[in-house]
Amino acid sequence: MERSCIICGVAANSREHVFPAALGGRRTNKGIYCDTHNGEYSELANIIVNQMRFFNSQIGVVGDHQKTTGEVKPVLLIDPVTKTEMWLNNTSTAFAEPRITSVTLNPEGDSAIEIAANSLQQLDTYVAALREKGLDVHVKSKGTPGIYYPGTLEGRLDLGGSDTGLRAIAYIAQTFLAQAFPDLARLPELAPLKEYTLNNSGKDFACWLSPSDGGHDSESKRFNHRIIVGHNADDNVIYARISLFGAFHYGVYLGVAEAGSSRSVVFDIDPLVKHPPLDMQKTEYDKAVGYSPRPENLTEYLAAAIKNGEAKASVDGLMRNIQDFQRESLATKWLQELERAKPTDRETANSFFERLVSSESGWILKLIKHFRRNFSQAMANSKNKDITKILHYYSENSELEPSSFDGLSDYGRTLLAISSAALIEKLTDDFFSGELDQDRMEMLLSGGQGLYTVGRVIQDEASLKVLGYAISDEVW
Ligand SMILES: [Zn+2]
Repeated sequence: MERSCIICGVAANSREHVFPAALGGRRTNKGIYCDTHNGEYSELANIIVNQMRFFNSQIGVVGDHQKTTGEVKPVLLIDPVTKTEMWLNNTSTAFAEPRITSVTLNPEGDSAIEIAANSLQQLDTYVAALREKGLDVHVKSKGTPGIYYPGTLEGRLDLGGSDTGLRAIAYIAQTFLAQAFPDLARLPELAPLKEYTLNNSGKDFACWLSPSDGGHDSESKRFNHRIIVGHNADDNVIYARISLFGAFHYGVYLGVAEAGSSRSVVFDIDPLVKHPPLDMQKTEYDKAVGYSPRPENLTEYLAAAIKNGEAKASVDGLMRNIQDFQRESLATKWLQELERAKPTDRETANSFFERLVSSESGWILKLIKHFRRNFSQAMANSKNKDITKILHYYSENSELEPSSFDGLSDYGRTLLAISSAALIEKLTDDFFSGELDQDRMEMLLSGGQGLYTVGRVIQDEASLKVLGYAISDEVW
């Protein structure tokens, strides 16, 4: 019915993603903004997209504009030890720039440098740029492909906490209101909101909220976004409640207007579904679902949540969900491949699992780190002299060496090799004894079974070095 731009009233015909495309919004609406205003809001939409990019990239959300390529947009993080910048998504890690791993000065006066790059193509571009600068560069050899294991990478999270972030949240609320209630979105009472979203004039439209105890944020799917827009007839407030990834909750107070009885619409968006109709569920109510009156002080909750740790707990909880999800997905994928390969003898099974384990060796490295950390913490107060020696050995030897070609130390490479071999054996055993189901596979990837399996060989390596014998039989 209404086809006028909600800002200026001219014919609206800009095909606008109701929820930002990059966050997994799949639905468009041509009746909300004119081309000019759609364009003017694109920067604001990008702000929230950038703030959520880390989570999107780890969950593996494919933006609506990347549907044909299936690309999961990566996020730029930095290794604080080497200052190396890396692009990271759910399946890959890549150097932002080729990395020089060693420089050797030759007696002739020239020098040999070793460079690690994502691809020969990236290396060629890099070398071409050096030549452009007038350097005389010759490529002597082009090494072999390998994996680089980054240490802890750091980035900065904003989460709509800034003023601009909240303005972007208000913009999402405004667009959904226009989608669900075209009449409300065009009320003159909403002019101040539009001034705020468009021109950043005025304030106090949006804020962080605590998780709702009414269950209005609860999601059946882990990473769903929930957008509620509505009108509460008791105080005439037109409101929105926005939950991103089921972890970050915002309230938006769009305006006050007499607009009939209470009504609301709940949109549940699953960013992992790439096509309608299952990407979004819409439920209409004749009451104000999820409404909570506007707090006296809009920054009060966020300030308290930062102080009492609730905000950090939300991020940590989401990170745990992401880890679980990645582990489940990998276990499922491995089982599917196993189903296709159907190895019938030990040798074939072994080489099958060897291929899987080496393709995902980052998981094995996580198990190794996890085991060493757990053991060191659990035994920190041990009076046993042998244990003390092993703990000392662990603290003296890091599995990482960020400046090396693969990010590992010699010790790390040894641990990775023996741990992978132990896991491959274990996977083969479990497969032939019929125990290798989804649960077991997940436990081997990052649960107790996996820790036990790699822990045994890590302990033996250490005890052989410092005590002269393998202690696994005694300790386990
Ligand atoms: Zn317009």
